[in-house]
Amino acid sequence: MSIIKRFVAGAVCPRCAEMDTIRVYRNDIREYRECIRCDYKDGQNLDGSPDSAEELQTRVNQVAPAKANQPKVAPVTAQAIKFDPFPSKGKSND
Ligand SMILES: [Zn+2]
Repeated sequence: MSIIKRFVAGAVCPRCAEMDTIRVYRNDIREYRECIRCDYKDGQNLDGSPDSAEELQTRVNQVAPAKANQPKVAPVTAQAIKFDPFPSKGKSND
């Protein structure tokens, strides 16, 4: 599988602030941006899933085995918060 790297017209590198130095390429699951002027590199998952702490492709992502002395914690998922600015309708004066 050949990877085609395309320059992004008008894109400014967030690190060196040069314009037209950013090019993008992707593999099956991720899209990468890299700057040809500096060594800036960034990537994001094509499905929009958030990255964990490590996002560079320099190493194969390895899931560390859970440490025995750490309690198992359920992964934190997004939680909707109900916010009612007017909890008591009785005070409304309209
Ligand atoms: Zn750069």
